[in-house]
Amino acid sequence: MTTHDEIQSQSPSPTIEDYLWLIFTLERDGEEVIGARLAELLEVSPPTVTVTLKRMVRDGWVEMDPNKHIQLTREGTEAAKTVLRRHMLVEWLLVEMLAVPWSRLHHEAHQLEHYISDDVEERLTKQLGERSVCPHGNPIPGNEDFVKSWGTLLDAPLDTPLIIRRIHEHAESRMSLMSFLEEYHILPGSQAMIREKLPFNDTLSLEVNDQTVVLGYRNARQIYVEVAGG
Ligand SMILES: [Zn+2]
Ligand SMILES: [Zn+2]
Repeated sequence: MTTHDEIQSQSPSPTIEDYLWLIFTLERDGEEVIGARLAELLEVSPPTVTVTLKRMVRDGWVEMDPNKHIQLTREGTEAAKTVLRRHMLVEWLLVEMLAVPWSRLHHEAHQLEHYISDDVEERLTKQLGERSVCPHGNPIPGNEDFVKSWGTLLDAPLDTPLIIRRIHEHAESRMSLMSFLEEYHILPGSQAMIREKLPFNDTLSLEVNDQTVVLGYRNARQIYVEVAGG
């Protein structure tokens, strides 16, 4: 066995797992995966990302081309799917069994996801039953088709009944946004209607739960909806 194989047979550290699932979601969404984007999403400095990525290349989790584009290896993809799946199962566990508020699920699950064994994952899956998405509507790996038909709130039609379906993974870690969405019931399953879009202002007015809420385009891009009855 080479040293390379020995390293790869070990589980990734929590830090590496965070990079793995983030890269996985970017690849899944067809986004360009470069260090600067990871630094932005992880809220760390670009040099920190560079150091970690070098370690990940060395350990066989990712490959980097001469243009510094990052791609998961087969092993990296498998490890990313595992941590993301465990994260989402823990989110369900926290909301259904411990009644943790929706806005805090991601944050709490983010701590626990790294310490779930194969056995506990199997028991969780059995206990929770078949799930396609996490409590924020994001697809559990392997269920990407389930969410395909939902478009972003930004692209949704005006004055048309909509159902909120999904808040993107990259928004889940923004605590103040999540509390705001929870407070105004902008949650999966809620009914909503766009009343106005102001492109010069990058905002839209959303009617939800008998209230009108103003959302920025940046946030509206991370919320996915379905036309009610459509
Ligand atoms: Zn989450
Ligand atoms: Zn989630």
